Amino acid sequence: MKQIFIDLRSDTVTKPTKAMREAMATAEVGDDVFGEDPTVIKLQETVATMLGKEKALYVASGCMSNQLALKAHTNPGDEVIMEQDAHMFNYETAAPSIMSSVQIKTIPGVRGVFRAEELLPLIRPDVYYMPKTRLVEVENTHNRAGGTIFPLDEIKKISAFCKSNNLIFHLDGARLWNASVATGISVKEYAQYFDSVSVCFSKGLGAPVGSAICGNSSFIEKVHKWRKVFGGGMRQAGIIAAGALFALEHNVERLSEDHDKAKYFAQELSKIKNLEIDLETVQTNIIIVDIQKTRKTPGEIIAVCKENGILFSQGTYTSIRAVMHLDVSMKQVKFAVERIKQVLQ
Ligand SMILES: *Cc1c(COP(=O)(O)O)cnc(C)c1O
Repeated sequence: MKQIFIDLRSDTVTKPTKAMREAMATAEVGDDVFGEDPTVIKLQETVATMLGKEKALYVASGCMSNQLALKAHTNPGDEVIMEQDAHMFNYETAAPSIMSSVQIKTIPGVRGVFRAEELLPLIRPDVYYMPKTRLVEVENTHNRAGGTIFPLDEIKKISAFCKSNNLIFHLDGARLWNASVATGISVKEYAQYFDSVSVCFSKGLGAPVGSAICGNSSFIEKVHKWRKVFGGGMRQAGIIAAGALFALEHNVERLSEDHDKAKYFAQELSKIKNLEIDLETVQTNIIIVDIQKTRKTPGEIIAVCKENGILFSQGTYTSIRAVMHLDVSMKQVKFAVERIKQVLQ
């Protein structure tokens, strides 16, 4: 096998730079289970302020963040509504059923987006033998749909619907900063419509570890307790929180470069015979390539590309997926395009 020169499997493969590592190495730390880690405290305050929420809590991963939100918001037997391709439904190992004993009701979206009107028929009547509808979740940007942005207007409508129906509204904002940079709408503007928001530092922002869950004080108090139950109370966590702080200071605005690379890559690949890309979904840093017409499986295409030094991940049964991030340059992307043209043409 030739050398791997571009890894497009995910924006989680980025490694901390020298400067980020220095910030981590020199971070002030303390025991965060005692609430005494100044760097963790600073990160939590920074994120809460950015999102306009009362409190934020640093947690180990985006899965933990989403699952803690569910745990704090729901009771066993409740029902939660989300889009059928949601990360929480597909990639979190059925954790809602394991950790919170809730049932998920899915709603089919268009490019990951559903509309407020579609929620009404899903709300359960208040009778004892039916599950209690408790929470609605949206994902922004939507991972499996290809990094698509959930329109703010629709978020507003769903938020109003949730309020009038006594439902909690949760945002899986693992890539909320990508949505914000692409639209110019601040993360605070997005966040105000939700009861809780999860954000990741280990995706496009390029930090090695961690996410934050944000909301009002009483919600975060509950989440704090459950974080300990879930085994997520970390001691001198400031050493990793420093990477997240560094990422917030240095790596937000530059996300637009990833979006530019994604657009270029998608446009070029869509010119290749038998590769199909819904260019409308390429709104941020993810590209889903439908490979059905090649009459090969995603695994076969991924293997051929890997032989040529380019790493993709599997999308669905008929697609492969590329994600742009700060460890790949436009030059590498251009080179990858030429290689792929040679190999798959
Ligand atoms: C990555 C991701 C998460 C959380 O992933 P972790 O690997 O647990 O940090 C949650 N939601 C979405 C949409 C994601 O892309």
